[in-house]
Amino acid sequence: MRRRSFLVAILLLIVAGLIISLRWQRSRFPLPAAVPHRPQLVIVIIIDQFPNDYLDRFRPYFVARGFNMLLSGARFTTCRYNYAINSTGPGHATLATGAYADMHGIVGNDWFDRSLARMVNCVEDANTKIVATDKGPADSPGASPHYLMNTTLGDELRMASGFQARVVAVSLKDRAAVLSGGHTANAVYWYQTASGSFVSSTYYMSALPSWVAKFNAHSPAGGYCGKGWQALPETPGAQGTFSQFAPGRGEPCPDPRFLEWLNSTPYMNEIELDFALAAIRNEHLGQGPATDLLTISLSANDYVGHAFGPYSPQVSDTTLRTDRALADFFTKLDQTVGLGNVWIALSADHGVAPTPQFIREHHLGLGLFTGTGLKDSIEAALVSRPKRFEEKTDSP
Ligand SMILES: [Zn+2]
Repeated sequence: MRRRSFLVAILLLIVAGLIISLRWQRSRFPLPAAVPHRPQLVIVIIIDQFPNDYLDRFRPYFVARGFNMLLSGARFTTCRYNYAINSTGPGHATLATGAYADMHGIVGNDWFDRSLARMVNCVEDANTKIVATDKGPADSPGASPHYLMNTTLGDELRMASGFQARVVAVSLKDRAAVLSGGHTANAVYWYQTASGSFVSSTYYMSALPSWVAKFNAHSPAGGYCGKGWQALPETPGAQGTFSQFAPGRGEPCPDPRFLEWLNSTPYMNEIELDFALAAIRNEHLGQGPATDLLTISLSANDYVGHAFGPYSPQVSDTTLRTDRALADFFTKLDQTVGLGNVWIALSADHGVAPTPQFIREHHLGLGLFTGTGLKDSIEAALVSRPKRFEEKTDSP
């Protein structure tokens, strides 16, 4: 009996110790008051070419409800793409699948296909056709995720909900949209610069829905005819006009030349976010019985970044304009689905290196490196040592 009382006392001490320990831990690491409710819509925004430090470099110039709204949530700053080819295809596939290229198979934007004996693009698919109207497919080849070997977040959401969740992906680039959407996406749309309109592929649909045809018919690029790209007054280190399209005599607008110019301006983000809002409204995202997913990959930042480099006033202005375009998008999103019903994640498919000119100017390295020079050096070295190669292959 005495022994049993002793054991009970020990047990009580352990329980008391556990309670104290839990309370202490809770005070150090407060637990959430309640598990957050299921969102009606998850939006993953991927900015093409957006190093993490832009959020700090340009933060003093951000408005209240653009990037700052996202920065009020959780922020992970130690994320890395632990592979060599940091480009759009692999980046989007990695983000969408949570796997690296050795698992998801998208090892580059393009690669050599041994069975076809030629270079292939990561989303090209000769078995599909482009869908550019609400009447039916065009004759040009479309795109699909047939090279993607893993499931995406969207695929998993679709399967987990018995295919009730709706998944839509939007981008200016086909590979960014296709790889973000995954295999089972309900709809994937990207932008065709030559026509200035949003298109899809027969992999997803046989004809564009009427709302997309209507959006295209209103000529989203047309609203920018005659408009130059001018620095915002608050963009640091920038002023005046960056570029202005000069139409030829009697040249209609928008035409392919104008569309090409517009493509490398931050206005493309406004067009794309307008399209994303139209997709939310018309595809009824966030209105169904399961959590829906919309991925938006903003490509204009990459076009501007490649043309001018990460420390250029053009990139500064594009980043500030992206901030304002997102603020506007969030306001409209609040009026449709309601921000309380949406979870938003922001990431990038890759960062960017400084331009060779910047590297030389600041003594950061040797500057320009040409692929042709490397190829010539390798060729010369191989040609100068043929004997050694023959000796090796001839040996038993
Ligand atoms: Zn990219």
